[in-house]
Amino acid sequence: MTSARSNPDDAPRADALAGAWLAAIARDEVARELEAIYACAAREIESRGPACWASGRCCNFERVGHRLYVTGLEAAYAITRSAHPVTRGQIDAARARGGCPFQEQNLCGIHTIKPLGCRVYFCDRTAQSWQHDLSERLLADIRALHEANAIEYRYAEWRAMLEMFIA
Ligand code: SF4
Repeated sequence: MTSARSNPDDAPRADALAGAWLAAIARDEVARELEAIYACAAREIESRGPACWASGRCCNFERVGHRLYVTGLEAAYAITRSAHPVTRGQIDAARARGGCPFQEQNLCGIHTIKPLGCRVYFCDRTAQSWQHDLSERLLADIRALHEANAIEYRYAEWRAMLEMFIA
């Protein structure tokens, strides 16, 4: 979870971008590389052992005062692997309550496939000394994955990014 960087483009462009990301994540080697980055995040976090009280507060962006930003490839990964397709109504409802369309009660409905920002964010104060650097390093790896496979890179707010896929 971090500060603003960019916004999705206009609707026709968004359609094209979303289509390109879906095609890219359908390639096994691309999906495996992204999963390897997520696995690296898991190892790094496990070695540091931050506390998570599973309160779900961090998924309520308005209440906590932050935003979740993701890459296009990550959004395509979550969308194609989610058991339930996200709808515009769910995104609108999530915006209205200030949260995430995948939050179910206090839990994440896409825990195993959630984006990097969700993986590295902990409200545990002990995490503040390392989570920014870890996030930046792994985000650079995801960007490099885009570049190595000629996948156009975007980094945008989570709900706005999801909307690009249902436009
Ligand atoms: S994807 Fe999961 S962890 Fe991330 S904000 Fe949504 S509910 Fe929370």
